[in-house]
Amino acid sequence: MSLLEVTDLTKHYPVRQGIVVAKQVGTVRAVDGVSFRIERGETLALVGESGCGKSTTARLVLRLIEPTSGTVRFDGQEVSGAALRTLRRRVQVVFQDPYASLNPRLRVGETIAEPMEVHGIGDAKSREARVQELLRLVGLAPFHAQRYPHEFSGGQRQRIGIARALAVQPDLIVCDEPVSALDVSIQAQVVNLLKDLQRQFGLSYLFIAHDLAVVRHMADRVAVMYLGQIVETAPKRDLFAAPRHPYTRALLRAIPHPDPRRRGQVTPLGGDVPSPMNPPSGCRFHTRCPFVQDLCRAEVPVLRDIDAGTRVACHLAETLPPFEAEVGDGLSEVATRRLALYAAAKDRRASGIR
Ligand code: SF4
Repeated sequence: MSLLEVTDLTKHYPVRQGIVVAKQVGTVRAVDGVSFRIERGETLALVGESGCGKSTTARLVLRLIEPTSGTVRFDGQEVSGAALRTLRRRVQVVFQDPYASLNPRLRVGETIAEPMEVHGIGDAKSREARVQELLRLVGLAPFHAQRYPHEFSGGQRQRIGIARALAVQPDLIVCDEPVSALDVSIQAQVVNLLKDLQRQFGLSYLFIAHDLAVVRHMADRVAVMYLGQIVETAPKRDLFAAPRHPYTRALLRAIPHPDPRRRGQVTPLGGDVPSPMNPPSGCRFHTRCPFVQDLCRAEVPVLRDIDAGTRVACHLAETLPPFEAEVGDGLSEVATRRLALYAAAKDRRASGIR
């Protein structure tokens, strides 16, 4: 049984117009039939361009917003009614903006202890001891509990956010772009911290990101979203070595090269993302796809198994030419350098240098 099972999840927002009597004139299909699973101890990365619906999907999983239809099952139980309280404790979140996600009026110790209070875990003394332990776990010092968020750097604030998420011993943490607001060197420290904590506590992550270098470092499996739908899911290694969907290929090819002599080898993804209010017929990617055929405009491709662990929504997935990786197994120099930076940050951490 999977830890999290999301089936056919949709979130549609009605668009209304009119001053006296507002009439519905359309529907924004922010998330449109998304299904995936996350196993225990696994990281599933959800990637795609801005506006593709990945953060909305995260909010639906967390039940911060109600779905239009579809189900979320956590540890075998459908999330609704009484099961929602269990979900609130066992599924936590780390937000993108470490500045906005902490209450500036609360001391760090109070911020971290708050979820334990809400869920009635321990007494004041045991919570205080747990706060000290959590601060140490995320690389901060116990005396930091007395300080306010504005006294910390961005990376330290994100560590506080992670400590708060860990406070109630969750099974799953939804990480919504947790490092994209940080400098690259700080990103490396936070990503390595998340990986260390996963090993230590057997955590599962739903990791929302648009940076493929970070995804490559963090994920076990990757799900690629386009215009509210998943177009490819695959084990990380397979997805980076041999992406099967034209959109996944475009994302990998769009990573810029730092070397001006190699910039010509990078193909930015052309065209704008169509409106989710009026998605294209057939395959939603057909307006930007270099392989488009008449069939693509007429028929919606279903997400289907094409290899062990790989599912793709493309009519032509089996007949496309092989993906020619620009560098190594699919990542550009930028990504490769970033990975080296992560490894160096990890070595420093292992030797006690923060
Ligand atoms: Fe491109 Fe057609 Fe595949 Fe869509 S179905 S991704 S338009 S080849």
